[in-house]
Amino acid sequence: MNSSVPQSQEAALKMGSGFRSDRDKSSPQPVQLETAIEMILQYAQPVGTGKIGIRSALGRVLSEDIHAPVNLPPFNRSPLDGYAVRSEDIAGATTDNPVLLEIRKEITTGNCGNGKVELGKNQAAIVMTGTPLPPGADVVIKLEDVRRIEQKIEVVSPLPAYSNYCFAGEDIRQGERVLSRGSVIDPSSVGILAALGISVVPVYRRPRVAIISNGDELVEVDKQLKPGQIFDSNSYTIASCVRQAGARPIMAGTVGDNMELIARKIAEMLKSADMIITTGGVSVGDFDLVRNALLSQGVKILFHRIAMRPGTPALGAVKNGKLIICLSGNQAAAFVTFHLLATPAIAGLMGITRSPLTITTAVLHDSYLKTSTQRNFLRGRTFFDEGVLKVKLAEKQDPGIIHSTLYCNALIDVPANSAALQAGTRVKIFLLPSTGMWQN
Ligand code: AMP
Ligand code: MG
Repeated sequence: MNSSVPQSQEAALKMGSGFRSDRDKSSPQPVQLETAIEMILQYAQPVGTGKIGIRSALGRVLSEDIHAPVNLPPFNRSPLDGYAVRSEDIAGATTDNPVLLEIRKEITTGNCGNGKVELGKNQAAIVMTGTPLPPGADVVIKLEDVRRIEQKIEVVSPLPAYSNYCFAGEDIRQGERVLSRGSVIDPSSVGILAALGISVVPVYRRPRVAIISNGDELVEVDKQLKPGQIFDSNSYTIASCVRQAGARPIMAGTVGDNMELIARKIAEMLKSADMIITTGGVSVGDFDLVRNALLSQGVKILFHRIAMRPGTPALGAVKNGKLIICLSGNQAAAFVTFHLLATPAIAGLMGITRSPLTITTAVLHDSYLKTSTQRNFLRGRTFFDEGVLKVKLAEKQDPGIIHSTLYCNALIDVPANSAALQAGTRVKIFLLPSTGMWQN
């Protein structure tokens, strides 16, 4: 235990969740990943609601169901350019015995929409795609299927009633629940809201997620490196993941291996953020002070260590209902555990009710011969090979290999004590939200 930890902290450490009470320095007992997620989700509640203009609605989460205030289409309408007629008038039409209909000139696009001018016997109205149909008309004949003779048309074949006829409300019926609370607003949702005349949209507030990187060796990307130092990349990866998940990252910067400074940063971020993610300093080494810093702030530890790799040291905690998720500083470990632990948490804070992770299976493109006594999440990319979903493994799989996370969209869940995996084996994967297009 670090000498800078006061006596009271030592006592707190002993009581902390998962620690064996007889040996302070022993590792806390790891929990199963699913248990950790469950504990986190208990605190992942929406952070608030508000209203937003439709132009800013894309990607936001609906905080209320949307019921259609009107029918779509709002009136019976024509699906094509042609003539609206009464099916009974053309029932006997043949080439030898054509039916002549008189064109009602006053019923055309623009003025037939008032619904007052009714089509009479043996009359036709010129209509275009999307224009309202006059009362009385129950069928539309295509422009090219009739012969126009001055103010008359000649019809040579019958059509059943309501062919080429779009009913009011056939797309979306007035009163129908058309969008559901907890859905992420996609481009089509935006269009539907506009079509229904809804310009102000009820949404959940976007959670603010603070990101703190810990380690004496870390340097901001725009500063000069001294020997032994490295750039802080986790802040950037995690902030980007947070943004991709739809939340607002607050990049709180780096803080050295000093318990008081870490504690101060956490206390500061607890004031402005809805959730905190830290990386680094969460193993049980002498310089891994994040746990102690949390305890000094009266934070409740939910779990510390997960029975998986990479990212075993992950810690989940809560203070005043706000989640704090602490991840290993190893870049691939931080990436993997962010996706497994923090994305479900962020989704919950955003008001999304379904899991952002899809669990499915895929066929291994490569062999993976290393075996492990621990559950292992390998990084990979999926692709289709003649209709079969396959997953290509990143070349190097060590927890500190940042390159293994590049365009990674699948975590391959390899159970503890698995035998070596041969190419062609079907494996369980966690599909991550796609990170877009890459070029091999
Ligand atoms: P730690 O979890 O603090 O033991 O760090 C594990 C490894 O990750 C060490 O090699 C650190 O230098 C590295 N590391 C920690 N934090 C970061 C960071 N923010 N960006 C890049 N590498 C980091
Ligand atoms: Mg460290």
